[in-house]
Amino acid sequence: MTPARPAALGCDAPILRERGQREVFCGLTGIIWLHRKVQDAFFLVVGSRTCAHLLQSAAGVMVFAEPRFATAIIEERDLAGMADCNEELDRVVDRLLARRPEIKLLFLVGSCPSEVIKLDLSRAAARLSVKHAGTTKILNYSGSGIETTFTEGEDACLAALVANLDADTSGAPSLMIVGALPDVVEDQFLRLLAELGIGPVHSLPARRAGAMPPVGPETRFLLAQPFLGETARALEDRGATRLDALFPFGAEGTTHWLHAAAQAFGVDEMHFRRTIAPGRERAKRAIEHSRERLAGKRITFLPDSQLEVPLARFLASELGMQPVEVGTPYLHRRLLAHELVLLPTDTLLSEGQDVDRQLDRVRAARPDLTVCGLGLANPLEAEGLTTKWAIELVFSPIHGFDQAGDLAELFARPLRRRDVLRV
Ligand code: SF4
Repeated sequence: MTPARPAALGCDAPILRERGQREVFCGLTGIIWLHRKVQDAFFLVVGSRTCAHLLQSAAGVMVFAEPRFATAIIEERDLAGMADCNEELDRVVDRLLARRPEIKLLFLVGSCPSEVIKLDLSRAAARLSVKHAGTTKILNYSGSGIETTFTEGEDACLAALVANLDADTSGAPSLMIVGALPDVVEDQFLRLLAELGIGPVHSLPARRAGAMPPVGPETRFLLAQPFLGETARALEDRGATRLDALFPFGAEGTTHWLHAAAQAFGVDEMHFRRTIAPGRERAKRAIEHSRERLAGKRITFLPDSQLEVPLARFLASELGMQPVEVGTPYLHRRLLAHELVLLPTDTLLSEGQDVDRQLDRVRAARPDLTVCGLGLANPLEAEGLTTKWAIELVFSPIHGFDQAGDLAELFARPLRRRDVLRV
């Protein structure tokens, strides 16, 4: 007898846990988008030449007259304990801030080497904050590959910010959008929320160090990214309330996300529907262009950015794709509860990675499209599988109604390219 299956995976969905070798960027990568977002912040990685090279190549070797990130290189004699790293770090920071007085927020970013030599960056940040009080705020977080994967760097950075936010003593409810979004996308959300009559609305991170939002028991917050587990916990510890919703990908995800805010702020249901209708219709029309290419196609996500579950939900429910395996570095069940309910029952959910075993599963399943990191894409293409670079999904504007068509297109393009090559 076949046991009855639930209609969807749900919160208690079985999960394959893997703890082997993984192929994921470390959390330093987040600096690439974070430094563009907070315009008077600077990210000083305390790391090795490898860390510096990673940043340069991930940033596409951008050449700035005045870059907003750098690496304080830990040399061999530092690693051997022959030099006082704290003194050297203080000197580097003093020199940097003397030359760049426009820096209002400095992040000391930990790396594998700084962790190996147990350089205490939280004490360094506290010491340097006293020295530079009144001009520059100095915080720290870890982007090390020992502690973080790819998008967890942003989570660690925002959690560090939360600990330093002012207390909101206004007693009035406010909404916080949490997660670094491209300015154009953030502006679209702010406009829609204003039309709904919801306010005040703040963003974390803000675009300027001096404009970071206050937080308190009247703060309601919406996560814009699914990988912000630590940040969510830190906000809740400060009394804020998380609004539970789908993530704002596609027409349905964006509607659900905005609706959670509308309900929390008592917006009239008819007003909500009227206000979002044009954007929702635009999104649905734009998505339709890719439906023919994507419907019925099988897709596997290898664990990379933690965007995998909401994107698989979007592709399954709005474009008719069939997720085969959805792998994610970490599964925040609490944050993804609504998403998991919408994944088809036969989706294999996996957390963590054992890269060889996972590649074996991909080879056996031969999905139409595999979303994976840069290092795995070429070998899989060589075996005749079609791939999509996961990193593109992090660097492209994909949230909200007006990006829904582009998001669908990001998945349709490799399949179109494959078909053209076959012809
Ligand atoms: Fe490599 Fe670690 Fe530096 Fe990341 S932090 S670049 S994993 S050495």
